[in-house]
Amino acid sequence: MSVFSHPDFDQHENVHFCFDPETGLKAIIAIHNTNLGPALGGCRMYPYANDEQALRDVLRLSRGMTYKSAVAELPLGGGKSVIIGDPRQHKTEHLLRAMGRFIDQVGGRYIAAEDSGTSVPDLRTMALETKHVSGIADRQGIDGKPAQGDPSPATAYGVFVGLKAAVKQQLGSDSLSGLKVAIQGLGNVGYRLARHLHEAGAELWVCDLYAEQEQRAAEEFNATIVKGSDIFSLPVDLFAPCAMGAVINADTLPMLKARIIAGAANNQLWDETFDARLQERGILYAPDFVLNAGGIIDIHYERSGYDAAKSRAHVERIADNLSAIFERSSNEQKPPGDVALRIAEERFVLKTP
Ligand code: NAD
Repeated sequence: MSVFSHPDFDQHENVHFCFDPETGLKAIIAIHNTNLGPALGGCRMYPYANDEQALRDVLRLSRGMTYKSAVAELPLGGGKSVIIGDPRQHKTEHLLRAMGRFIDQVGGRYIAAEDSGTSVPDLRTMALETKHVSGIADRQGIDGKPAQGDPSPATAYGVFVGLKAAVKQQLGSDSLSGLKVAIQGLGNVGYRLARHLHEAGAELWVCDLYAEQEQRAAEEFNATIVKGSDIFSLPVDLFAPCAMGAVINADTLPMLKARIIAGAANNQLWDETFDARLQERGILYAPDFVLNAGGIIDIHYERSGYDAAKSRAHVERIADNLSAIFERSSNEQKPPGDVALRIAEERFVLKTP
């Protein structure tokens, strides 16, 4: 397994490997770039088929965090960690505490948060061993309701406000009333996004792996339930991927009828070429790492003395960021994802004197 010559290495500052024989912990912490601040990113636990898969995932996710925080104008760098194992079988208090000690050894250059396979209680267990854990405080959330560190309400709100900027750009409308939206995934973020959209008068089509989530959305938001891959080909205005990555790919692209892609999922494009391919088809893509930054923004404010109003105002700037990206994209005749990457690089790459 190569590291320095790995296709996703991309000038990572540090890649730490950890093995703890007592608990069986096998983990990797990747720190992509700390030019703007300490590397903050989730700790994922996943039953990777092999070490190579785990390394690839952590490198890609870590790099993504650098870009996400830079575009969101946060004083944070990019990093991520992965624990190799099945969270349903291998997660124990001892293992989580060993992960906490591992994070502690990195000395604050990496700060962990929740990710898939880990929860706020898991992060709190790690915090028994290290102070370099975030998103775990009992506090008021962005919506004024009690929040136990869960970034999802802020993520959903950020996607909602950003999505409005995309609608304005592509359809010339300030209103979401009557907008036809397809949402794939009704989890922590997708469900909340559906609520925002319903309250704004949008008409919804939804799908999830869990029938009870779909049923709830049908009852609460008058949403129409769609099965499987039908979600891609609906004659809607906007498609919001809120489940997993790589959903915009060679199979789905020809199916899309939506004029806007704007959702919460990380790494929605199969690869960066799909940015231009969407543009060629006249579909406006709201770059995922710009749109879904609400959670990391909210975690940043938790770390610096929580102020719900300040956090909310910063999340709302996602709309301005996107409008600026769309404008530059049209001026420079470059796809929006590419423009967003360049804007991030202009912020985090150290200029040589
Ligand atoms: P979640 O696990 O709570 O929800 C995901 C939902 O998608 C689940 O209900 C699942 O059943 C459903 N799903 C999975 N595969 C599906 C499929 N093929 N078709 C339809 N539904 C499917 O996750 P979440 O926290 O809501 O995050 C959603 C996405 O947003 C993820 O890609 C995540 O990485 C990204 N994201 C989340 C946050 C956050 O604050 N939670 C922040 C940034 C990005």
